[in-house]
Order: sequence, then structure tokens, then C-alpha cells
Amino acid sequence: MAKNLTILGATGTIGVNTLDVVARNPEKFRVVALTGQNQIEKLALQCRQFQPRYAVVLESDKASALQALLTDTATEVLAGMEALEFVCALPEIDTVMAAIVGSAGLRPALAAARAGKRVLLANKETLVMAGRFFMEAVRGHGATLLPIDSEHNAIFQSLPANYDGDSARHGVRRILLTASGGPFRTRAVETLKAVTPEEAVAHPNWVMGKKISVDSASMMNKGLEVIEAHWLFNARPEQIEVVIHPQSIVHSMVEYLDGSVLAQLSNPDMRTPIAHSLAYPERVEAGVNWLDLAKLGSLTFEAPDFARFPCLKLAYQALAAGGAATAVLNAANEVAVAAFLDRRIPYLGIAASLESVLGRLTGLPAESLEDLMAADAAARREAQTWVDRESGMASR
Ligand code: NAD
Ligand code: MG
Repeated sequence: MAKNLTILGATGTIGVNTLDVVARNPEKFRVVALTGQNQIEKLALQCRQFQPRYAVVLESDKASALQALLTDTATEVLAGMEALEFVCALPEIDTVMAAIVGSAGLRPALAAARAGKRVLLANKETLVMAGRFFMEAVRGHGATLLPIDSEHNAIFQSLPANYDGDSARHGVRRILLTASGGPFRTRAVETLKAVTPEEAVAHPNWVMGKKISVDSASMMNKGLEVIEAHWLFNARPEQIEVVIHPQSIVHSMVEYLDGSVLAQLSNPDMRTPIAHSLAYPERVEAGVNWLDLAKLGSLTFEAPDFARFPCLKLAYQALAAGGAATAVLNAANEVAVAAFLDRRIPYLGIAASLESVLGRLTGLPAESLEDLMAADAAARREAQTWVDRESGMASR
């Protein structure tokens, strides 16, 4: 029986890679719903190829434009956040790929968890914002959570099959989270103030959306992933160690009490973790090149430089602070990255603004999802104020 899929964020990098794996395994997977935001023509082409029952966009004028492109098809076009939640909870859906970028991905991912679906989580912001509530929804509704982020997928594959988050019982000592170090790993620190958006999005190993590419350059991405690992694997912050590995072949590792370290290796291609999670516990073709270790020759590792990458340190601090701090960090980072891409603040302004916002908004309540939404909104306002002041000063 083919598995029925909803793909949130189908037009993005993860969405396109997911459809590529689906197209290689047409007897195993069937697309029931596709969603996108702005790239309407691309979404229409995807609908023609995969013939989903539903296509969803956020805004009604985009829906009309999409509808006009799909009049001769059986695909029904829907609009709005409720429609995104609707296609995650449909009875016929088995699996939801949650690949919207940013905090906009939280509500649909939660809807999928609450409907007890198999949730393939690419949207790490969901866990950074509301990890406790999301994990409660997964457990409380019998959902299955499989991580798409390559590091977390590697950790998942390196943990025992029956791992329940009890590290002592399973003899798990540490998680070794690998990081490429991004495009600025060896660049002279004094030149970082002149970094342009073009330089920041040019990742040496991975092709990704703009937001996550900037996060990779600042290593905020690794900071978000430390927080993500904390929630996914019930790991304490001191059990999660970041290791720089510039070749991006070892996607992460798990260290056991007896000294064993298990790793997952593959070429840096998101189709591997996507195919793993789509087919789990089976394996399917992903179209990925075989790993040629002899050709690679060497794999290297080094410790991260927290002075070069202050965002990584801020993420550890937010995780240690707990409560709403990681939601504040995530929201402020979204605002700062957008402002950097718009050339309103310099690259170093990302970390500076986060430090300022985290300093001002400590101790906000985090007793409910509503509290976290409020913390997210407060952090956005605070970060926007910082950006406006900084860019105002720069233009004077
Ligand atoms: P992307 O920018 O390429 O695609 C984002 C998708 O989300 C698009 O389909 C877009 O239409 C949709 N979208 C954006 N804003 C939306 C909104 N407000 N409402 C509804 N839909 C919206 O991003 P990506 O690189 O595919 O990343 C998606 C998620 O996966 C991110 O959370 C990212 O951190 C995570 N992730 C990506 C990679 C990667 O290699 N690209 C790896 C690990 C994790
Ligand atoms: Mg990753």
C-alpha cells in the first residue's frame, strides 16, 4: 500500500528534494496535498506532475492565481493557515513532511502531531519555539516523529532502535553534533564585519533556502540544532557537543558509555535523510551518489570557535535559561536574518541584536503555547526596534 503524503513547503529546497524521492518510488508514496507560499507557477507544475487532491497557499489572491493555472485538473485549491492545518489532519494522510521555513511552520506541524500522523520534521524552528508542547503533542496523540535535519537524522540512526530518551538505561554518554563551519570558518575575524548576503548564503557543501544558509554561516543553525537535539532525544545541554567537520560527510554521532562512537555517513544530499524518514523502517532509492571514501581521502574534525561564532554560544545560553528564551532567540533571529538579507544591518548585527533582545526579554512566561506565541511576538518587536535604530544610524 502506498503511503499518502502531505508536503508542507513543497516549493522549498526540502520540498523539492522530497518530491524527487517520491518520483523515484511512485509505488510507495502518493502525494495528497502540496503547499507553498509565493512560487505559484512552480507549485502549479508540481501539481500537474503529482496530481494531489489539494494544493494550499497562505493568501487568497495567490489561491486565485493558482486556481487559474489548474482549472483543467482535479486539484482543489485552498488558502490560509486553517487550510494548512486541515491538510495535515486529513484521515487518509499517513505522513506529513513539515518543511515550511521559520515559525510559520509551527501550527501545521502541531496539527499533524495532534492528528497522530507520522511527522517528518524539517522545520527545526517548531522545536526551538515550542519544543515542550510539540513533544507533548507527539506523545499524547501517538504521533511518530522522524527528524529530517541531517544531523538529527544521523543521531536517530545511530541510537538504539527502541531509544526512549533514557540515556542512562541505554548507555548513551553524549551526542556529537557535527557542523561544517560554513563559509566563514577560516576567514579572518576582522573582515567579518564586511560580510555580504551573497557571501553568507554561499554554503560550501549544501544548497539550502536563504534563511538557513545565513544561519549556517553564523552557526546559529548549529545553535538551533543543539536545542532541537535537546527536545528530540531528551539530551541535557552538557550531553550535546558540537564538532566542526568541514567535509559534511559524518552527519553526527552518538557516543556510548563503553567508548563506542556510532556515526552515520553519506554524501551531503538531503535526499538521504528524507528517503530514510519516508520509508522508515524500510530503505528506498534516493538518487544519491555513493560515498567514495578513498576519493575523499581524509575527514577532519576540530573544536568550534565560540568567539568567531557568538550565535552558537547564545543558543547554548538560551537553552540553559529555559522557559521562553529559545522562542525569543528564534524570533529575534528571524527578524535579524531578514534585515541582514535586506542589507539593513551588517552581518555582525545579527549576533549583536540577539544578545540585546535576549538580555531585555529574560524570564517571560512559558506555561502555555499562547505564552510562547506572545514571547515570539515580543521578541520580533524588540528585534525590529533594534534593526530600525541600527539601520537609522547607519543611513545618517
Ligand atoms: P526554503 O526557503 O527553500 O523553503 C521554504 C518553504 O516554506 C517554501 O515552500 C515556502 O513556500 C514555504 N513558506 C515560507 N514561508 C511560509 C509561510 N509563512 N507560510 C507557509 N509557507 C511558507 O527552505 P528550506 O531550505 O527548504 O528549509 C525548510 C525547513 O527545513 C527550514 O525550517 C529549515 O531550517 C529546515 N531544514 C532545511 C535543510 C536544507 O538542507 N534545506 C536542512 C535541514 C533543515
Ligand atoms: Mg542540519
